[in-house]
Amino acid sequence: MSNFRTVKNTIRKSFSKIKDIVPVPDLIEIQSTSFNDFVQLDYLPEERENVGLEKVLRDIFPVEHDSDLSLECVSYEIGNWACTCGKVTGIENRYKWSCSSCEKTGCSRLDRGSCTSCKKQAAKYIVCTNCLSRVGICLDVTVDECRSRGQTFSLPLKIKIQLVSWDRDQADSKVVRDIKEQNIFFTDLPIMTDVYEEGGRFKVGSLGTFLINGVDRVIVSQLHRSPGVVFSQSKKVKDFRDRPYYLARIIPMRGSWIDFEFDSNDMLYVRIDETTKFLVTTFLQALRYTRDERISLL
Ligand SMILES: [Zn+2]
Ligand SMILES: [Zn+2]
Repeated sequence: MSNFRTVKNTIRKSFSKIKDIVPVPDLIEIQSTSFNDFVQLDYLPEERENVGLEKVLRDIFPVEHDSDLSLECVSYEIGNWACTCGKVTGIENRYKWSCSSCEKTGCSRLDRGSCTSCKKQAAKYIVCTNCLSRVGICLDVTVDECRSRGQTFSLPLKIKIQLVSWDRDQADSKVVRDIKEQNIFFTDLPIMTDVYEEGGRFKVGSLGTFLINGVDRVIVSQLHRSPGVVFSQSKKVKDFRDRPYYLARIIPMRGSWIDFEFDSNDMLYVRIDETTKFLVTTFLQALRYTRDERISLL
């Protein structure tokens, strides 16, 4: 009988008489690696690469308003990070270290306990003085509890936001007037089950599924129709004058599809995400075109 361990440290026993020649590969590796790259859970904000959630946030922020206000995203944090007693919190406190040789402190990931200053292997992560445990991720409910209660397995996504107000000096260049910083709760993000620790780092996705309302779900990737503008003519559906319908469709890289279509009275309508249609003039008005500009455009 042969034993081997799978990734999530489950011992699997084989009662077969024929020896295993090729080990069973990790079949959910692509999904879990992809999701770990997306969330970059156990990373310091400055360690994160510009992929996944970090890239989404960097693409969207800063949000600017009338060139005198801008909203900037400093960093994000997924989950509640705390020690066992809850006295020390935050992912920064997980990677604070002190060196017993040169007595320096810092906040970075240590490579086998070697101090970044004196290069001796004497640096250690700081633990809570009250409960003597290191900061780790705190789960309010486990996956099994979520499954039995019919809940979604998710972690809070918090974002550190800066509201910057700008002034203009005599040379008409921007100078910072004021910065307000705040941690805001953004959303509860569904997390690929389950959270586990490997090599001193928390990871997710050992099971490869999401738990939505107590039911295991997987993500199936879909093809995205290539972005651009498409003009088409319906040959099958014709109006009462036996003329075909014409359609223009704007497909953006991200966001809603916009359809332009004529009705039987030759009125031009707009449809956003294939919902109720409304007049194109109303659409242009919503885009801040004045009445004269709208007439000249049409
Ligand atoms: Zn503590
Ligand atoms: Zn040192």
